[in-house]
Amino acid sequence: MSEWIEREGKVFMQFFNRYSIVVERGEGCWLYDEDGKKYLDLIAGIACVSVGHGNEFVASRIAEQARKLMHVSNLFYTKPQVELAEKLKEITSLDRFFFTNSGTESVEAALKIARRATGRKKFVAFTNGFHGRTMGALSVTWKEKFRKPFEPLVGPVSFADFNSIESLERAADRDTAAVILEPVQGEAGVFPADRDFVRRIFELRDELGFLVIFDEVQTGFGRTGEWFAKDIYNATPDIMTMAKAMGNGFPVGAVAVSEDVHTKIEKGDHGSTFGGNPLACEAALATIEYIEQNNLLENARRMGELFMNGLKGLDFVEDVRGFGLMIGVSVGDAKGLSQHLMSRSVLVNATSERDVRIIPPLTIREEEVSFALSAFREYGV
Ligand SMILES: *Cc1c(COP(=O)(O)O)cnc(C)c1O
Repeated sequence: MSEWIEREGKVFMQFFNRYSIVVERGEGCWLYDEDGKKYLDLIAGIACVSVGHGNEFVASRIAEQARKLMHVSNLFYTKPQVELAEKLKEITSLDRFFFTNSGTESVEAALKIARRATGRKKFVAFTNGFHGRTMGALSVTWKEKFRKPFEPLVGPVSFADFNSIESLERAADRDTAAVILEPVQGEAGVFPADRDFVRRIFELRDELGFLVIFDEVQTGFGRTGEWFAKDIYNATPDIMTMAKAMGNGFPVGAVAVSEDVHTKIEKGDHGSTFGGNPLACEAALATIEYIEQNNLLENARRMGELFMNGLKGLDFVEDVRGFGLMIGVSVGDAKGLSQHLMSRSVLVNATSERDVRIIPPLTIREEEVSFALSAFREYGV
């Protein structure tokens, strides 16, 4: 065992189950451990490193900005913040933005905004949904194991069955401030919402007057082959959260709202010291520009299709689903598969006993997809 793993065990809070790999550096879709052994990374820092490890374009923009100005707080105006908000307006078609440092913070802001804008308290969330680990985001996260030890949480929250219109209709009412949905559930193992289900959420919104929050923390910035999963559903939420891939792994997130929602909030309702600092905004701007300049939405669609078609032909695979490079695979033993793949230098993430998630950098190339598929093919032979 690496001495670093032993040292971590003595000083780090033991919240995480980790792979026994000490990662030293990365290049594109590949990670290198402390002994120089390389792995094909189909996890990408949990759907964060979308333009690849060691991306020179993003790294040099970050370095340049770090020398110029890293942080001044939101007591001042800075150019990268304005530029990033303008860019997000273009690619999200929402109107107003607030910057955070993580996904869970984006969700916290979204929940506060929803209460403020509606004057209502209740939230509707869905079975198997994941929205983060801080108190508010945790309150709308499904898994009891995450929630129970920390109650009382924010309430009232009603959990409706994901993709059940009947259950949704029972849960949503005139006391509901917002319905929060991952258009494609990520942590659950990549489960897309049905189109009819999404349509019904918006019909009920118009009828009952709640707001719709799309949590696009994982689906955002090209992961699904569109800028945002909302584009797959032709839907425009009132509030949208984002983070993970926004800065290629640099901690930066945002919450977006419609102009209508924005008219109902007031100065002082929310804030952040670090949120939207020039360094984070420059990282996000560079990441978005790189995606645009290299047609990575199209690459995500093409490579995703190649990947999914390859997986569908395998006899041990029970189900393949997803959009672009956000792919879920059900098998008999997800841990077993993931261990096999690791022994073939391919890293995937088992999200449950049965489900494996494939979320590589959007820069992945055909020969890398082929390399991964041949490792899958060798499973059980
Ligand atoms: C990861 C994730 C979060 C939480 O993001 P953190 O940056 O870990 O706080 C929230 N919502 C969704 C959909 C996520 O995938």
